[in-house]
Amino acid sequence: MHFVPMDPELIKKAIEVFEDELGPARRRLDAFYRQFVCPHCEGECSKETEPNHVFSPDELVQRSVLRCQQCGLLFDPHSGLILERAGHVTLPYDD
Ligand SMILES: [Zn+2]
Repeated sequence: MHFVPMDPELIKKAIEVFEDELGPARRRLDAFYRQFVCPHCEGECSKETEPNHVFSPDELVQRSVLRCQQCGLLFDPHSGLILERAGHVTLPYDD
């Protein structure tokens, strides 16, 4: 079977009649993620995709989790759940 890609201009014309709901949703989530710093060392974080945390009935676009660029801590900013600690990180314990 031979695959013929569609003309990008035709694709653009076909979807331009629809309201862009994904762009504003994506920008809103990006603004939400920019508020966060690492809960352990307050380092800057970058987005990652974690399959178990991607989907939500409340969002039109995929969610991300955040990884600290300094210590490697991975957490879900939506729930506050820490998903992965870096090997050299020791977190304080609540006794
Ligand atoms: Zn950190």
